[in-house]
Amino acid sequence: MMRRFVRTRRFGTRADVDETVLVVPGKTLIGGEWVGAQKRAVFPVFDPATGDVVGSAPDMGAAETEIAIDAASSALESWRRTSPRDRSRRLRQWHDSIVERREELARLMTLECGKPLAEARGEVDYGASFVEWFAEEGPRCVGSVDASCSDRRMLTTRQAVGCAGLITPWNFPLGMITRKAGAALAAGCTVVVKPAEDTPLTALALAKLAEGALPPGALNVVTAARANAPAVGEVLCASPVVRALSFTGSTEVGKRLYAQCAGTVKKLGLELGGNAPFVVLDDADLDLAVECAMASKFRYSGQTCVCADRFLVHDAVFDDFEDRLLRAIRKLEIGRGLDDGVTLGPLINQRAADRVRSLIPDDAAVFDKHAAAARALGPTFVAPALVRVDLDLDHPPPCWDNENFGPVVPLARFRGDDDAVIEIANRHATGLAAYVVAGDLRRAWRIAERLETGMCGVNQGIISTATMPFGGVKESGIGREGGIGFGISEYLEDKYLCFGN
Ligand code: NAD
Repeated sequence: MMRRFVRTRRFGTRADVDETVLVVPGKTLIGGEWVGAQKRAVFPVFDPATGDVVGSAPDMGAAETEIAIDAASSALESWRRTSPRDRSRRLRQWHDSIVERREELARLMTLECGKPLAEARGEVDYGASFVEWFAEEGPRCVGSVDASCSDRRMLTTRQAVGCAGLITPWNFPLGMITRKAGAALAAGCTVVVKPAEDTPLTALALAKLAEGALPPGALNVVTAARANAPAVGEVLCASPVVRALSFTGSTEVGKRLYAQCAGTVKKLGLELGGNAPFVVLDDADLDLAVECAMASKFRYSGQTCVCADRFLVHDAVFDDFEDRLLRAIRKLEIGRGLDDGVTLGPLINQRAADRVRSLIPDDAAVFDKHAAAARALGPTFVAPALVRVDLDLDHPPPCWDNENFGPVVPLARFRGDDDAVIEIANRHATGLAAYVVAGDLRRAWRIAERLETGMCGVNQGIISTATMPFGGVKESGIGREGGIGFGISEYLEDKYLCFGN
């Protein structure tokens, strides 16, 4: 494979991105063509580990979004009439090309989002699995017949909802796109994807790999700098042609899009923020508890929406758990995601890192080796911190009430029975994921069922998979992605037909 520097119109160069395979500099895929922004505007993409520019993407706005919607609309009729089996074959082809390029995709992802390379490889597998899963789901989306009445036959058909707008975040630059686009395309929808401004290159690489598999206009990508994201969102929400909008990101932006979609009464999927409770009961296996805690909390430096955020540990095992957790935290290796042995990379940008630092009180437990490494590496690196939280105080620290989205472990002791911990865990406006570590599974089951979240891991710290529905309750969102019938149904309408004789 030939490696060349990516040369962009206005920005620097970087040897690690293979432009010949994965990115067309300064261009995005709309209507089957690689096009730039109308005024040739581009925005830089940075390596969060170094601050280097690693590439650029077109800085598009309302006008280009309209063009992308038109392209998706033109491609819709033919794509929705394509047989589900044929759509499935094409998705399978896209899947295979993603898997084939696993290493390049993983490196590109690490370059623009900073996650350790091993995690980026895992995300390619995870992201590809959604394309494969929905390729299999599509042909199984058949309707039903009720022949129980002698004078009529009643049936349902499942139809693609239409064009879909998909807005995705930076923390899973590949997986969040395939989890949505795989479902929408399998259902017969055409899509306009708006990736996050920090990570457009992975999205563009995915489009490049889809090019050979999907017809022109089936998948369109509109990239935009942060300042233009609201304009793109407004057009997607206001368009009567876009019949479904799926968003993964912050609760704040999700609420805004919810309101903006009211005007056209769209089908809406919202995967928003969380503040996951992680409950350790007094009969828990503490080695397992620490293993689950580390997996859940420190994946991508704590920048996942299902991260354990509020650690609630029973008084009887609190000290022991804290000791063991600190020993595990000490072993974390901070560094650049492309370097061997690194388990904790940078945060996505300095704004995010400054925000996380502001949530860490002075008396937090931080290892000197981590603090020194983070200082030496640069302003996007944050040393892991353990913050003891006293729930008897009127005002717990801000890292307890807010999703910290960083390597911060807010740790609180609880006393009393299971009702007490359930009440504390449910005391939050969001409800995405929760975790329970327990010896007695019947007890864990009862607690898990009463936790107000869309998902719960029991003796398990990593729960997301294509085969099960992902999503939240309360202010964590609406709808489900993945799973048998769940994710694809977000892009289907069930039509009832009644035939008299
Ligand atoms: P964000 O809401 O700032 O941005 C997400 C996407 O929305 C980006 O593409 C961004 O450009 C776009 N955007 C921003 N403002 C917009 C607007 N006014 N109109 C339209 N689009 C707009 O979120 P983020 O900082 O990128 O991601 C972090 C948040 O996402 C966290 O709260 C995290 O919990 C959440 N998240 C949730 C899930 C889930 O599945 N529930 C998964 C990953 C991340």
